[in-house]
Amino acid sequence: MRAKQEGNIWRERLRYFEARQEALASTIREFVEIESPSDAKPAADRMGQFLAAKFEALGGRARLHRAQDFGDSLQIDFPGREKRQPVLLLGHFDTVYPLGTLQTMPCHAADGRLYGPGVLDMKSGIALMLCVIEALQTWHAGLPRPVTVFLVSDEEVGSSSSRKITESLAKESAAVLVLEPAAGPRGAVKTARKGVGEYKLTVQGVAAHAGLDPGKGHSAIVELARQITALSKLNDLQRGISVNAGVIRGGTRTNVIAAEATAEIDVRIKLAKQAIILDRRLRSLKPFDKRCKLTVEGGVNRMPMERNAGVVALYKKAVAVAKQIDWKLEEAAVGGGSDGNFTAGLGVPTLDGLGGVGSGAHAVHEHVVISELPRRALLLAGMIESA
Ligand SMILES: [Zn+2]
Repeated sequence: MRAKQEGNIWRERLRYFEARQEALASTIREFVEIESPSDAKPAADRMGQFLAAKFEALGGRARLHRAQDFGDSLQIDFPGREKRQPVLLLGHFDTVYPLGTLQTMPCHAADGRLYGPGVLDMKSGIALMLCVIEALQTWHAGLPRPVTVFLVSDEEVGSSSSRKITESLAKESAAVLVLEPAAGPRGAVKTARKGVGEYKLTVQGVAAHAGLDPGKGHSAIVELARQITALSKLNDLQRGISVNAGVIRGGTRTNVIAAEATAEIDVRIKLAKQAIILDRRLRSLKPFDKRCKLTVEGGVNRMPMERNAGVVALYKKAVAVAKQIDWKLEEAAVGGGSDGNFTAGLGVPTLDGLGGVGSGAHAVHEHVVISELPRRALLLAGMIESA
């Protein structure tokens, strides 16, 4: 009987969010229509200030953390009725799309989906935060516990300006809920993420005239080609390791034996210990042609988010919330990293992928499914209460 009554409360809550589905979609559209690429500080700052006002209207205390090369990151603190540790809602308002993208990729709704740059990754996640904070304030006459919102503007480029703040806020929090997009069409939450590294391999060869002195040159391009073939052997997909030389450059003219060539390499690892081994192997690369010189720069930026006990405990709470409306919430392990990797790495219970459901992140068809928004809001509300 009691369980049934509780189930009814959750159904009522779901109806509350269903009634606000269109308003939520308009908020998302509003956010998408303010372009905020990671590399355009004035634009990102406009977005940050716009969001600060939105959260302040709900009674939050907003604070901007100055960043020199990126938009200022935005922290908003909400008081709670109970003296519990705060929960940290983590996200980013930068996107991968350059200024002007809206002209070729306007925000629009079609077939129950909302399309636009950054709509899924992750402006819908920020709109969910706002909607859910407002709902909890209504249901409880104030938030049931303190909530900290932290929105950064350099997540898509490695979070160098915001990482320390993210980590210090996480350490003060009972749990971190990351509003990055859900995984797959069924909206799975993310309980594991790969670690991400970026390296640059530079080969210094010996230049020579390709026609007059071919024997005197030591081609940096040939050496780089051999290195890339060797690097591709480090791939071990079964163990979750991938190595991809995604960008190469080199040479100056066809009649010159190339003096320099470079490769930019993306590295993904499933376990923290793999990062150390792989890093060592990359740094100890030896040239095939002894007259060429190799330099390796870079490193692992985000360690893997491993499915540790804290992550599992939070996932179980999420499953319990979803069960109230007979929703079987799934979990997923994904290849991309997020700022959740930082907080999980500190041992703070972290659950990622609580944001919108859709597909096409970073692509022209990026969209969220509008009818999924109420369930996502319900899940977030339940997690803020129970995390
Ligand atoms: Zn994202």
